[in-house]
Amino acid sequence: MKHSCHGSRLLMTINKFLMMITLLLPLVLSGQDDYTQTRKKMVSHDIISRGVNDQATLDAMRNVPRHEFVPQEFRQRAYQDGPLPIGYGQTISQPYIVAFMTEAIRPQNHFRVLEVGTGSGYQAAVLSAIVDSVFTIEIIDELYLQAKKRLKKLAYDNVQVKNADGYFGWASKGPFDAIVVTAAAEFVPPPLIEQLNEGGRMIIPVGTPFSTQQLLLVTKNGGKIKTRNLMFVRFVPFTRDKGS
Ligand code: SAH
Repeated sequence: MKHSCHGSRLLMTINKFLMMITLLLPLVLSGQDDYTQTRKKMVSHDIISRGVNDQATLDAMRNVPRHEFVPQEFRQRAYQDGPLPIGYGQTISQPYIVAFMTEAIRPQNHFRVLEVGTGSGYQAAVLSAIVDSVFTIEIIDELYLQAKKRLKKLAYDNVQVKNADGYFGWASKGPFDAIVVTAAAEFVPPPLIEQLNEGGRMIIPVGTPFSTQQLLLVTKNGGKIKTRNLMFVRFVPFTRDKGS
């Protein structure tokens, strides 16, 4: 009697285990997570509807798990179209802005891209899903460490992270086909212009800190630099307190 009772319990446990595998396996094999559908909705409601239509950008926004880049307490809000705090007074940008900036550099598979302002590492991950390699610089030590660890854990292997003042760019890795700056500067740092490849595009918020800024598109063609205002935005300030 005792034996058969144990036997049936064991059978039930095995059954439960098999059911779990049957339920989870398709998800694992398709690379999906609990938020796959939520991300698809986010892309159609908040991004395509507002004019972003570059296919590679949209695919990256559908695939990169933004909830992994926000603090645990904000996970439920990871796919709402707003910025979220990431600690140290910094924010992860709203999904629409990340998509807009990604599309604005016209990303291509062979690109080497520099990002200034790693923050959570989300923008770097979105770029890395499209381009050949991403070099990203963060000035706050703790955010640098966290982002580096997170990008490694999530296997974004074509991203290199550096802890420095991004004002100076990353000369040894340049020139870059595109540069994305995600903190508001008072002017475009000359070293970044220098490290932009011929035909390259830079996107950078420029203006007064803690106010609205202009999101500038800076292009370099035949050595000529042109700037164009794409929209008004509000970013955290570009800081200069780390010697580099
Ligand atoms: N791209 C980020 C969001 C950036 S918030 C993301 O996807 O999460 C802006 C970031 O720029 C902050 O983390 C801030 O510390 C960083 N930053 C500000 N000034 C900087 C500088 N001079 N060099 C490098 N990083 C800087």
